[in-house]
Amino acid sequence: MLDRRSLIVGGSLAALAGPTVLRAQTGRFALPEPLIPVDARRDRMYRVTVCLRPFRAAGPRIEAERISGKTVVHHYGHGGSGWSLSWGSAQQAVPLAIATGARDIAVIGAGAIGLTSAITAQRMGAKVTIYTKERFPQIRSGYATGSWTPSSRIGMEDQVAPGFGDWWEKVARASYAMHQSYLGVAGSPVEWTPRWFLSDEPPGPHKPSTPDGRPRFLELDHVTGDLVPDMQNVAPEDNPFAIPYARRNTQMTFNVAQYCRQLEAEFEASGGRFVHAELESVKDLRHIRETTILNCTGYAARALFGDESIVPVRGQIAWLLPQPGVNYGVFYNHLYVLARRDGIVVQALGENDYFGFDDPDETPDMAAAVAAIDQAGMMFRPKSI
Ligand SMILES: Cc1cc2nc3c(=O)[nH]c(=O)nc-3n(C[C@H](O)[C@H](O)[C@H](O)COP(=O)(O)OP(=O)(O)OC[C@H]3O[C@@H](n4cnc5c(N)ncnc54)[C@H](O)[C@@H]3O)c2cc1C
Repeated sequence: MLDRRSLIVGGSLAALAGPTVLRAQTGRFALPEPLIPVDARRDRMYRVTVCLRPFRAAGPRIEAERISGKTVVHHYGHGGSGWSLSWGSAQQAVPLAIATGARDIAVIGAGAIGLTSAITAQRMGAKVTIYTKERFPQIRSGYATGSWTPSSRIGMEDQVAPGFGDWWEKVARASYAMHQSYLGVAGSPVEWTPRWFLSDEPPGPHKPSTPDGRPRFLELDHVTGDLVPDMQNVAPEDNPFAIPYARRNTQMTFNVAQYCRQLEAEFEASGGRFVHAELESVKDLRHIRETTILNCTGYAARALFGDESIVPVRGQIAWLLPQPGVNYGVFYNHLYVLARRDGIVVQALGENDYFGFDDPDETPDMAAAVAAIDQAGMMFRPKSI
């Protein structure tokens, strides 16, 4: 017998119900609408992307250096937090460039860090040119999940400078405030959407994201926990999934395609100019007209500026076609599915933060992508029929 609150698939009842839905009882934990399941099938996968998180055990590098008569302000190494921390980090880096007294400033790179740095510099009165090899959609930032993850792989315990936690909190809070200013903008570059956390066992204490015996990644999310709505336990009768335990909250989502386009348009509307340029070595800085340069090259700074403290942390996403009305994320069994307006992210997270660590291979692993889609399909299987 079919439980009306459960997943309705196929057949005449589905036709009566309109689109396939996961029904959750409203009441104590009111859901505005029935939950439409993600249609996680291999034939809906339209691309697989790989990106490298620019991780530094000491945290992002923000410092000025004189190179060949120019001031280069390094601004890179944001690990798995580049989108989240972008604005606040720019507010730390850009004043170092403004302090040179230059009115014309160059930014190298048009990823999350380059775009937000460029706009921040414009707001501080500078005339800005972005020199870049790639723009969206080729940039690594274009392949991010699009979640508020301000302390994801942002540094290692004992390897960041004293006071890093205070610095991080200031950056995270400033960034958060700027992201909120993009709510309600056409195309929804930023929006708040539900997250479900599913488990086979009752939720236990927080598990550290580092396995025993290895250097520990910093975990700072609790410091800014007040910015994120509280997690709620979902009663079994309100749980629309076939997985026994569910918790839920609401989190900030970056619709990365819209966000990049919005930032590029904003930059150009304020008189900013993009120049296509591929620097092969530091010597090529001489081809840049400006004498003050913000270096926002992300992982590429490793080769370009010889910074071997940058460690690549590989992450792969299998993309499913977007589905109207599906706008939530689900975590289950080390898999994350996040339905954004510009596509549905299916991402294997691995058992801990060392997943993909020191792996510079940007070739898509198709077998892993298909396995992730199949696993996602299990999350959305019918509850009872
Ligand atoms: C799978 C995955 C998921 C992620 N999810 C999230 C998330 O949900 N939330 C979050 O906050 N962060 C997330 N991140 C992290 C985030 O994507 C990075 O921290 C961020 O993209 C770094 O941005 P960036 O601007 O420093 O670098 P990039 O995006 O790599 O930009 C570098 C720029 O420099 C240019 N450039 C490079 N070399 C040269 C050169 N030689 N000459 C000229 N130009 C050059 C490039 O063309 C590009 O424009 C994720 C990362 C991965 C891998």
